[in-house]
Amino acid sequence: LPDAARRHAFPRYARVNLLRAAPDAVEAQLRAEGLEVARDGTVGALLVLPHGTDLHAHALVADGRLILQDKSSCFSAQALLGGGSSWLDGGDVIDACAAPGNKTLHAAALLSAAALSGAAAAAAAAASHHVFAFDRDAKRLALLRRRCDGAGGAGRITPCLQDFLAVDVNDARFSRVRGILLDPSCSGSGIVTAPDRWQEEEQGGAGGGDRVDKLAAFQLAALLKALSFPHARRVVYSTCSVHARENEGVVAAALRQQQQQQQRGQGGQGEGEEERCCPGPWRLVKCLPRWHRRGIVPEGSGLTAQQADCMVRAAPADDTNGFFVALFARGPADEGEGK
Ligand code: SAM
Repeated sequence: LPDAARRHAFPRYARVNLLRAAPDAVEAQLRAEGLEVARDGTVGALLVLPHGTDLHAHALVADGRLILQDKSSCFSAQALLGGGSSWLDGGDVIDACAAPGNKTLHAAALLSAAALSGAAAAAAAAASHHVFAFDRDAKRLALLRRRCDGAGGAGRITPCLQDFLAVDVNDARFSRVRGILLDPSCSGSGIVTAPDRWQEEEQGGAGGGDRVDKLAAFQLAALLKALSFPHARRVVYSTCSVHARENEGVVAAALRQQQQQQQRGQGGQGEGEEERCCPGPWRLVKCLPRWHRRGIVPEGSGLTAQQADCMVRAAPADDTNGFFVALFARGPADEGEGK
C-alpha cells in the first residue's frame, strides 16, 4: 500500500502492562473472545490486532492490564531497557518529558519485568528501581499521575512537576539515576494524521520552518542536559518527528558538543569522584538492532553511515507512525549491546 492509504489501515496495537498482567494470559483472554491476536516481533508484550479492533471500552484497558499504544511509541523504553541491562546496576531511571506517561509506564513495566524474571539478587536490585517522571505542564502531569496510579505505577513512579532543563543534576535524589528517557516536545510530524508534514519529509526533510528550528534548539538543550547527569550510563532520545533537524541533526550536534567538551578536558560530566566512577565519553549504541529502518546522514551533519546505522526510524510503511530513536551509552559495553 502507498503511505497515504496505509495510514488508514494500521493494525490496533495494545501493550500488555507487565505491572498488571502476563502477556500469555491477556492473549489467551482476547483469543477466547474470538479476537485475532499476534505478538509484535520488535516490542516484547506488544499485541497486534486487526485494523479497526476497538478496545477502548474493553475491561483489560479499563483496569490497566492493556495499554493502547502505537508500536513505534514503544521503541523508546524498549531501546533503553529491552536489551541487556547490567549497566542499570540497581539504579533509577528518569523520564525527562514524561506526560501523559505512555513511555514512563512502559519503562516501569520493563524494570519490573527484570525483577520478575531475574535471579534472586537481580530481582532484589530491580525491585528498588524507581522512575522519576518530569513534566513542566501541571495538567498533563496530573493526567500522568492518574494513569500511572491506575496502571500499577504507584510507588514505582514519582511524578515531578519541574522544567527538566532546570533540574539540579547533582541533587542527591538523582545519584542512583543510570538511565534517562528523553522524548521531548517535537513537531509531531511523524504522526500520520498530519499527512502534509509527512510529505515534507518524503521530499527531503527540509520542511517545518522556524518552528522546527526552535524545537530542535530545545531538544538539543534537553539532550545535553540528560547527558550531563553524572552517573547516567544510557540515554535514549526519541521524537515522533520525521524532520532530520529534530532527529539525526540533534544527535549530531550533541555528539559535537560532547567532543568539544572532551577536548577541553571537561568530560561532559561531574567532577572528582563522579568523573572517576563514570569515565569515558558518550557513544552511540546500535539500538533495536534487528529493526530494518535505520537513521539517515543529513547533508553537512558530520555523521558517519555507521553512526546513522545506530539510530532507528519508523515510517507508515512499517504500519506505525513515523518515529526516531537514538541510544547513547558510556562506560563498559553491556552484554546485550548491539545484538
Ligand atoms: N513521553 C510522553 C509519552 O509517551 O506519553 C510524551 C511526551 S510529549 C512528546 C513532550 C512532553 O514534554 C509534554 O508533556 C511537555 O509538557 C513536556 N515538556 C516540554 N518541555 C519540557 C521541559 N522543559 N521540562 C519538562 N517537560 C517538558
